[in-house]
Amino acid sequence: MVVLRSKNEIEGMRRAGDLVARALVLLGPHVRAGVRLSELDRIVEEFIRSEGGEPTYKGYRSSYTVPAFPGTICTAVNEEVVHGIPGPRRLRDGDIVGIDVGATLGGWVGDTCYTYPVGEVSPQASKLLEVTRECLEAGIAEIGPEKRFGDVGAAIQELAEYHGYGVVRELGGHGLGHELHEEPHMNHIGRRGRGMRFREGMTLTIEPMINEGTPEIRILEDGWTVVTADKKLSAHYEHSLTVTSSGCEILTPWHLLLRKTAELA
Ligand code: MG
Repeated sequence: MVVLRSKNEIEGMRRAGDLVARALVLLGPHVRAGVRLSELDRIVEEFIRSEGGEPTYKGYRSSYTVPAFPGTICTAVNEEVVHGIPGPRRLRDGDIVGIDVGATLGGWVGDTCYTYPVGEVSPQASKLLEVTRECLEAGIAEIGPEKRFGDVGAAIQELAEYHGYGVVRELGGHGLGHELHEEPHMNHIGRRGRGMRFREGMTLTIEPMINEGTPEIRILEDGWTVVTADKKLSAHYEHSLTVTSSGCEILTPWHLLLRKTAELA
């Protein structure tokens, strides 16, 4: 069942979204060569708790056969796509690292991701980050009450494939609200004019995972870490958003916070 949220409910989700966006931006200066992923995890957990929130991913179970997720953030370095565990690994110059943050605040969930370059990255890595972020923007530009899910998927797929990249199929965007994963599921591939219609008050994520090579993925032995099957790079950006009468509103405004930070620098 797809739930449509009231103005009050969306205000709650705006606060949760703002919290995870601020957590992502706060982490930026710490994402550098030598830092352990576990240290980044600690910084975000402390920040979320200091703001009265709870880490949403910690203790999350995807199935009974996989251990509960141990981190506050999910990390994804280089060929890792999503859902990596933030362990003792140290980042190295030239890595790219996706940082996914989920927090529950006042009963509402915010979910967002940003892929950071670590130090100087290759031109290929830099282009992948740029195009993946453009894919997120192109998908978001298609959202509105007159549009369908296929319009978003098609916009993302066309742009990624134009650059020779693969769009991950098995994982997608999702409804969110009181729970991290609610209906509906959102594919990042599709055909225009097809699929479910957007309706005002829907709350969901758009989060294209774009691979430098083929779209195929594998899951590592830990039961969590998703990697590209061909070991090439993958990038991931995510916003939580709500459908409005004229389009949509982004609930996790890291793009605005980053712009502000850049202006101050
Ligand atoms: Mg998500």
